[in-house]
Amino acid sequence: MQKRTVYLDHAATTPVDPAVVEAMLPAFKETWGNPSSLYEQGRNANALMETAREQVAKVLNCRPGEIIFNSGGTEGDNLALKGVALQAKLKGQGNHIITSAFEHHAVLHAAEYLERFGIETTFLPVSRDGLVDPEEVRRAIRPGQTVLVSIMYANNEIGTIQPLAEISKITREHGIVFHTDAVQAAGNLSLDVQALGVDLLSLSAHKFYGPKGAGIFYVRSGTEKRILWQQQGGSQEKKRRAGTENVPYIAGMAKALTLAEANRPEYWEKVRVLRDRLLAGIRERIPGVILNGTYAADKRLSNNINLSFEGILEEGILQSLDLQGIAASNGSACNVGAIEPSHVIAAIGGGADLAMGTLRLTLGKSTADADVDYVLEKLPGVVERMRALSELVV
Ligand code: PLP
Repeated sequence: MQKRTVYLDHAATTPVDPAVVEAMLPAFKETWGNPSSLYEQGRNANALMETAREQVAKVLNCRPGEIIFNSGGTEGDNLALKGVALQAKLKGQGNHIITSAFEHHAVLHAAEYLERFGIETTFLPVSRDGLVDPEEVRRAIRPGQTVLVSIMYANNEIGTIQPLAEISKITREHGIVFHTDAVQAAGNLSLDVQALGVDLLSLSAHKFYGPKGAGIFYVRSGTEKRILWQQQGGSQEKKRRAGTENVPYIAGMAKALTLAEANRPEYWEKVRVLRDRLLAGIRERIPGVILNGTYAADKRLSNNINLSFEGILEEGILQSLDLQGIAASNGSACNVGAIEPSHVIAAIGGGADLAMGTLRLTLGKSTADADVDYVLEKLPGVVERMRALSELVV
């Protein structure tokens, strides 16, 4: 088969949809005013931004006033943890938060940072299937001390979907703020915050065919009092996030989210069929393959494959695939270049050997049958060579 370029890293980022570029252009060319300015150019930019806010609120089934625009998932996650924990600390209302061991580093590192302020964190264990047990959340709660629970909606490495609605029943019983990092869920799962029962939710546009550096932070009405806002300056975003809003990106992000929501069922099914064929083909052709995380249809994102190959101790698999034109990952993009075992695979009980030789393949809108065929042709040889190399090293 002729060499081709196959992009299978949609969990890292997605290409911007041409319709999203179209939606952004007027905000660059015509409606370029400062949305805080009172004259016409400003009012027009503000109107564009508020329309975007309404579109986003519709997808999340919330009020437009509960939406804050920011720079992405990292900012939202940091604000959720620091904002809630530090506000509680300041008011003497508690000093304990709960999260899971396999969250994105934006959550894990924010929790570590908070230790310096005397905030304690419980990192919940995750099952072999890659799921957080709501009963573990209940057990970890320290009455009168726990102020926040932050559990991701879908894991970025293994795509497993967490039982948010069940967890929210528990947090509500205790009056604890519940945040979810829904960055990987957008475009795949419902973002209806009423059904999920979450109080705070982080999203990032570049994961759903929008621009990079643009995000959404949902704050349930009433929860704003429990947040110490982290960015001071002008009175943008109702003084919750100072700084001139990026109107073109906001317009594009709202378009991207609306499109993703409208196409969600077809998208889910399309990538599921391709994903299942790819996984079955890999298992047929390569011995000693382990799928990380559950394969249950309703508990794993339908575009995600995460594999460990027995007998591979080296990182070279990604480079070898790259030479063949295949873009894949070993987990989170933030770990590129760092030869560290995946904390996600470690959290689900994969030993260091499995955590090293992982491969994440995440399909997307443009993935075609020919891409699956190509990977099925190239991957067995790559794995064979990597295994031979690992034997030499040992
Ligand atoms: N949370 C999760 C689950 C992610 O996958 C990512 C991106 O990889 C982030 C947060 C960070 O989002 P951003 O790139 O917008 O900062």
